[in-house]
This record gives sequence, C-alpha cells and structure tokens, in this order.
Amino acid sequence: MQTAQEDKLNIEQLYELGNKHMWLPFTQMKDYEENPLIIASGEGVKVKDVHGNEYLDAYSSLWLNVHGHRKKEIDEAIKKQLDSIAHSTLLGAMNIPSIKLAARLIEIAPRSLSRVFYSDSGATSVEIAIKMAYQYWQNEGFTKKTKFVALNNGYHGDTVGAMSVGSIDLYHRVYSKLLFASYTIPFPSTYHHPSGDAEIAKQESLQAVRELFKEKSDEIAGIFVESIMQGAGGMNLMPPGYLKELEKLCREFDVFLIVDEVATGFGRTGKMFAVEHEEVQPDIMTIAKGITGGYLPIAATLTSERIYNAFYADYSEMKTFFHGHSYTGNQLGCAAALANLDLFENENLVEEAAKKADYVQEKLKQVAALPHVGDVRQLGLICGIELAENKATKKPFPAEKRTAYQATLRMREKGLLTRPLGDVIVFMPPLAATYHELDEMISIMKDVIQEI
Ligand SMILES: *Cc1c(COP(=O)(O)O)cnc(C)c1O
Repeated sequence: MQTAQEDKLNIEQLYELGNKHMWLPFTQMKDYEENPLIIASGEGVKVKDVHGNEYLDAYSSLWLNVHGHRKKEIDEAIKKQLDSIAHSTLLGAMNIPSIKLAARLIEIAPRSLSRVFYSDSGATSVEIAIKMAYQYWQNEGFTKKTKFVALNNGYHGDTVGAMSVGSIDLYHRVYSKLLFASYTIPFPSTYHHPSGDAEIAKQESLQAVRELFKEKSDEIAGIFVESIMQGAGGMNLMPPGYLKELEKLCREFDVFLIVDEVATGFGRTGKMFAVEHEEVQPDIMTIAKGITGGYLPIAATLTSERIYNAFYADYSEMKTFFHGHSYTGNQLGCAAALANLDLFENENLVEEAAKKADYVQEKLKQVAALPHVGDVRQLGLICGIELAENKATKKPFPAEKRTAYQATLRMREKGLLTRPLGDVIVFMPPLAATYHELDEMISIMKDVIQEI
C-alpha cells in the first residue's frame, strides 16, 4: 500500500514528466499545459483522472469505444489469448484469431467484399486502400489510372497518402506541396450550401462528379468517401440517396468506390456499417476505430475478389502486393475484435443503438433550439452540434474566439469529455451508454451551450 503522501508525489511527478517528455496528437501543447488532464482508469462510460475526478466519455475516447471501458468479456478474451500467444507476424503466415476474425468480418460486411487485409489504424487501412486500388489498375494494364478523387472536407487519417485523398484545409494546408494531387469534389452539405437546400447541394455535387468522370475517368483509380457522414471535417451529413447515386456513377465509369467506414462502422450509425442505409456495395472498405470495441489497434481494408485476383499470379509476374506493417493481424487485437463482435450479437447492439439514436434525436431538439446553435447533425450515435454567432444568418463566431473549444473545457469542469471540430461540438457516446447516461451527457452539454 502506498501512503497518501507517496500518491500525491507520484501525481506531481506524472505532471512534471508528462510536460517534459510528451507531445500529444492534434494538441497545441501550450493549451494542454494550461488545462492538463491525466487519465488513470475507466469503468463503463466514465473515465477517472489521477485525482479521482470522474468524466462521462461523451466522445468514446475519440470515437472508438463501444461497450464502455473495462468490458468484462473483452478483458477476458485478451487474457485468454495471452495464454496462447500475443503476436506473430502475418508476413507469409496466418494466425488463428486473424482467420476467425476475417471470416466474421466478411459475414457482416457488404456482399461485394470477400477479402481482409489487416493493419493497425484507420490511416494505414486507407494507405492500403490507395495502394491496392492504384496497383490493381497497374497490374491490369490500365497504367494511366493513377489519380484519386476526394470530397471537400473529407478526412481519412494523417499519413501523407491519407491526407492526399482528404481535404481539410486547416490540417492539410501546410503540407500541400508534400501531398500527391487529387481531384476535389464539393461535399453536399445542406447547412453550408448557400441555398440551404439538400436536393440542390446533392445535384450540384453529383453533377461535378459526373463531369469529372466523363472527362477524366481513364485517369482515375478511385474515389474516397466517408460513409454518409463526414467526421473530422465537421460532422457533415450527405443528403439521402447521395452515396447511392455516387455508386452508380462509379459503376458507369469504372472508378473504384472506396468507402471509409473507420468512424461509421460497427453500429455507430444504427446499422453495422453506414453503407447499409443505402445498400451500397463498395469496391474497397476501410474499418478501424470500433472494431475492437475501442481496445486495441486493429484495422482492416476489405476488398472484392475482382481486386484480389488482379494480384494473384506467379511471383515472376511481379503482381504481389508489397505492403505490410509489423503488428498486422495482431492476435490480442483480433481476439478483442472477436469478443466485440460476439457482444454485438449477444446484446443486439446495433438495434439498441438505433433506438438510442432516436431518443438522442428527440433530446437534441432542446439543444438545437438554443440561440447559438446553428445546426445539429446526426446519424445514429454520431452527432455534431454546430455553433453560430447568429442563428438566423448562420454567421459563425470569429474563429479566434475558439468558442466550441472553450465550451468543451467548461464541459470538462462539469464532468464530461469531448472535443470540438472548429465550432462543431462532437457528441459520440459509447453505443452501450444507458438512456440515463445519455440524459446526463446531453444535459451537461445543453447547460454549457446555453451559457455561451
Ligand atoms: C479516425 C479516422 C481515420 C483515421 O484513423 P486512425 O486510426 O486515427 O489513423 C480515417 N478515416 C476516418 C473516417 C476517421 O474518422
């Protein structure tokens, strides 16, 4: 047992060592130093800091967590796997949990997909999608098909390839000369479109895709889209039918439809995968975040037999996919993912999440009515609350005021964790959050937004 004095010293040391040696992702460290936070433990939808303060995890530890923290079944699956082996490479060898998981993933994935290529983060799953699509056309002799199409405000991760098929000015501008060039299509965002009309925004964007494909499809390998809802670009929602129309254009012009389900997959949107809302069949689909219930870094790029077959040949034909990461298909991660999928089945989680999403939609009406809320966008249990200085004209707050960031700090004081995207406040609770916990979260957010 440690004495209280020793505990206190440890906390001070943690702050000191952290400030001296750590550098956090997507964080201005100067901001962090003013408002430091060190998490010590978690249980259910709450995490606890080193002082014992509890916080509702209203962003699912950055969109990952599904069942809450310390879910018994996943904890046990990992411990059990440790009794066999923690990790062996997938380079030239398979392992048991990765085979089982691949089969389970294909069972639940859209029927166009039959092959699983593992990696360890959303960004790597996207890099793999880029190289897979690119090399497919090379292997098949269509050597001019080397370009990709991005949607404005798209986000696919932070590696150089993933940034090149994304389009978020704030994150990407400084690297612009480093990135490979992609075509960019306007995203059909109803709230931000001058007309405010979903149909107009949708047709305008589809028309831009059609014109681009008509002129350039012999140079285009694929188009990258987040599935129905854009995440990091500000929680922007495609109008109904848009993704389906995009799929048709891809078929018409033989351009691969590459759907990023990293954020939207695993029940998040009230379907196992968001493409199911429109029965879309991607050529390639990337998955990560919720795949292990938020436990371990496993990701996968799913693809079709058509693409797989273009790589399958005698070695001397040089069609092999020369790509891999050290921890690809890690057994502990795959075991966690299998336990996660069992829980989805046993707890009927997708349907439950859809019901909770309806409840949240009703509750968020009170938030939408607040004077400084311009828009509330939601797909399942992904919600974005966009603040506006002037609700009627949609005039945003001056960016330098960092209104949403200040609001999230205030929420933290009241026992809730989330992060802003510009002036959009993210609300993305673990799927397993109870109705009561959802109430608690929404009530804190509402109180704070009301104070603005
Ligand atoms: C988070 C995210 C990524 C990147 O995933 P990482 O695991 O953070 O690399 C890619 N695409 C989408 C849609 C995401 O939300």
